[in-house]
Amino acid sequence: GQCITHCPVGALRERDDTEKVWSALADKKKVTVVQIAPAVRAAWGEALGMKREEATVGKIVDALRKIGFDYVFDTAFSADLTIMEEGAEFLERLQNGELKDRPMFTSCCPGWIRFIKSQYPHLVPQLSSAKSPQQMFGAVMKTYFAKSIGVDPENICTVSIMPCLAKKGERNMELFYEEYAGHDVDIVLTTRELVRMIRSAHIAPSTLVDAPCDTLMQDGSGAGVIFGATGGVMEAALRSAYFLVTGKNPDADAFSVVRSNNLNHGAVCAEIPIGDTVVRAAVVSGLGNARQLIEMIERGDVHYDFVEVMACPGGCVGGGGQPIHDGQELALERGKNLYFLDKNANIRFSHENKDVLKLYEDFMGKPLSHKAHLLLHTDHNAWEMPKRPR
Ligand code: SF4
Repeated sequence: GQCITHCPVGALRERDDTEKVWSALADKKKVTVVQIAPAVRAAWGEALGMKREEATVGKIVDALRKIGFDYVFDTAFSADLTIMEEGAEFLERLQNGELKDRPMFTSCCPGWIRFIKSQYPHLVPQLSSAKSPQQMFGAVMKTYFAKSIGVDPENICTVSIMPCLAKKGERNMELFYEEYAGHDVDIVLTTRELVRMIRSAHIAPSTLVDAPCDTLMQDGSGAGVIFGATGGVMEAALRSAYFLVTGKNPDADAFSVVRSNNLNHGAVCAEIPIGDTVVRAAVVSGLGNARQLIEMIERGDVHYDFVEVMACPGGCVGGGGQPIHDGQELALERGKNLYFLDKNANIRFSHENKDVLKLYEDFMGKPLSHKAHLLLHTDHNAWEMPKRPR
């Protein structure tokens, strides 16, 4: 998703949706609900002259409240929810023998979805049907959360702050639920647009304090936070799959082999024993690397059960919506920041997120339930990404 910002002649202008957000904030009928993606916390401070340790997610929460949002949440919550759904789906497909020939691919990166749909359409059925954390959160905000605050979903405006330009196209995905038909997410802003809003609201970064997210969907595990770095989705999924199969938690760092230290190396592959099964996992970032891996899979040179693909080198921390520093590649450094946050998190397993468990208990039933399918899964052939990031 980086082509617009890196256009050498500046012929493509960056899309700016901040005006739409200001209008929603000014509309008294609208309840504005915003989510902050994991990778944003690793980069937003760079553009505001803040040190990495100063630029916490709590300060983004404070800034968004000062800007005027009614409710502020952390996408780490719905990353945990994604793991519950995608982890259960993976184990089901593995046990049903559906992954004998080809692996299940992750589905949370719209740059990757656009690539596979256009380049390898026959592999689309191998994608997980789980929506991305952004879309899942939007769906939950317009149903479970809307109900809890007694507001009609039509009057809720869902906004997300993402490291990504392709996420603006992913919001085309639609939500049909009981009497509501519309979008999970109404407006997507990049990290750069967030910084622009903070500046135009005249908020001095030095005045920001660590503020907690709103309740009901407040918990987010370290596993949810590492979604922003390459290998993070795989590692989070393996932690929970291990628990689902064996009934006990692994050491939270047991699967750190799937992390990448060098973005030019191509795929990181590992055989992970889970109970009596060995899961063959591969992680790749950058679409050139992804293409090489797919060609190897298609030739039958290699076989995997589960493959994570992120379009941007290094994962979302290196996304096209992040602050730009010419000639500098900060993805690995930002990724380390997310792994540090995970290491120090109170909860490190998605299946221990109490607010996610409460969501299942009070509303969704269990992973892969009928309601979960309606709200949290999608048919990838039923929605179209724009041809280019807009
Ligand atoms: Fe967006 Fe890049 Fe992350 Fe994919 S890897 S979701 S294109 S930021």
